[in-house]
Amino acid sequence: MTQSPIIALLQSLGATTAPQGLAVTCPADGSTLAHLIPDSAQSIDSKMHSAANAQTRWHSLLRPEREKKLEQFAAALRSHREQLATLITYEAGKTPKEAMVEADGIADIILKTIKDASLPEFNGMLRRKEREPLGVVALITSFNFPLVVAGWTLAPALLAGNAVVWKPSEKTPLVATATKAIWDNTHPEYADLLQLAIGLRNIGEALVAHDVVAMVSATGSVGMGKGINATLAKKQSPARTILELGGNNAVVISQHVTPAHLAWTAGALLHSFFGTSGQRCTNSRRVIIHRSHHGELIRLLTEKLAAFIASGVITSPLAGTSNDYGYGPLIDEDAFNRFEYAKSQARAQGGEILFGARLLAEQFPAAYYVEPALALMPEQTLIMHEETFAPLLYITPYDGDIHHAITLANAPANGGLVGAIYTQKQSEADLFATLNQAGHCLINSPRGTGTPAYGMGFGGNKDSGEGEILNSADPLAAFTRHTRFMRIAQNKDIAMEP
Ligand code: NAD
Repeated sequence: MTQSPIIALLQSLGATTAPQGLAVTCPADGSTLAHLIPDSAQSIDSKMHSAANAQTRWHSLLRPEREKKLEQFAAALRSHREQLATLITYEAGKTPKEAMVEADGIADIILKTIKDASLPEFNGMLRRKEREPLGVVALITSFNFPLVVAGWTLAPALLAGNAVVWKPSEKTPLVATATKAIWDNTHPEYADLLQLAIGLRNIGEALVAHDVVAMVSATGSVGMGKGINATLAKKQSPARTILELGGNNAVVISQHVTPAHLAWTAGALLHSFFGTSGQRCTNSRRVIIHRSHHGELIRLLTEKLAAFIASGVITSPLAGTSNDYGYGPLIDEDAFNRFEYAKSQARAQGGEILFGARLLAEQFPAAYYVEPALALMPEQTLIMHEETFAPLLYITPYDGDIHHAITLANAPANGGLVGAIYTQKQSEADLFATLNQAGHCLINSPRGTGTPAYGMGFGGNKDSGEGEILNSADPLAAFTRHTRFMRIAQNKDIAMEP
């Protein structure tokens, strides 16, 4: 049997793989890339305590010293951008262009966090907000952004003086393994500060349940969030949470759009609907369009989808090709089955499916490439309340005024991440911004729900999460305990000593 080139790549970074254990599969062709030794309850316990020990040393460094060390880490990650991007393409199936954006993103996030972290202010009075680290942060990440979403926690948590025990998705643990190796090579004296927990959901549960954990920062499905809350509810010691969960993002298209605006909107929707093969939390899942434009939108989208599919860009990312949408395979068979299930439910609930066929099955029998699919629904049915993590867009008409459309947009419990509206009427846009229950509200956005306001804090409401926490303009706030004190800076008139 020939050895996967990915094993050699990991070894070149000093990361170790195993002959057996957790198998990591390539979604582009179904091959096995590498095995990693899975963790156990005992190994998690020992990693937690080592992380806590390293954290006390790390905390005693001055913030500028931690900044310097994180800048060195960012530089090391940047110097390995090609390898990190290759790992993302192989284990997450992302096109090379999109994988490189993500590989560059982690270093950018670290440097931006350092820049944004606020410093004590001097203004006649010495006012200081002391921000003490929490301790050990458990970081749990999803498969679809295996590196960059981790960066949103890694950078502020470490800069604030915490340790991090990171459980990557069982589907994409290799780029995390490489990142850990790069950390160890850059700062061997702090190797224990960043630990990896490898394994399935039970390892995530062991992390959350551990007494040492002071915070859980987790990105994943609504089900994962509920599971984490259930584990935490049984714990004696409290832990803070940041839960970034699934979305069911709605796009409202009002009757007040001109033909040119509608045509532009169809182009904007295309990217947000099937970018990254529909495997982004911010993808548009539901379009709620005024009946007067319904037929024309379907005509425009059908034309665009047919052209996209005919262009032949849906192919293996391992060939080195990228496309404007980051469109590649679904992550695995389970994702394909859920795509098929949603289509069959949509049909059973009165809908009609356009496109959505499986592609390249003969060439890659163990990989899952599909055409994006439109589901034309007569009304908002039950299946539209679920998040299907695949390129499937429900389109349903509404009658009456914009209130009706907003009610439909808000109806699913998981509709709390991003909402978008297309309208030429200011009062409708304002009403949507007020009544829409998602964490992010976009008006006439060039990319549907796909461009939330990064830097303003990312996060959802309702079942989708807990509001703007990660990637906020005050990055350390969530990862520290605050104490505030104030004294006069120039103590001329006050005798401090007898
Ligand atoms: P998932 O929920 O299946 O798994 C995510 C991670 O959680 C994995 O590491 C998994 O092992 C772990 N996990 C699952 N159940 C757990 C539990 N009970 N306790 C502890 N750990 C547990 O998600 P996925 O399929 O990897 O990712 C897709 C989902 O993530 C989608 O729902 C997507 O919308 C969501 N997502 C949200 C955001 C956001 O910022 N809101 C970003 C990316 C992805």
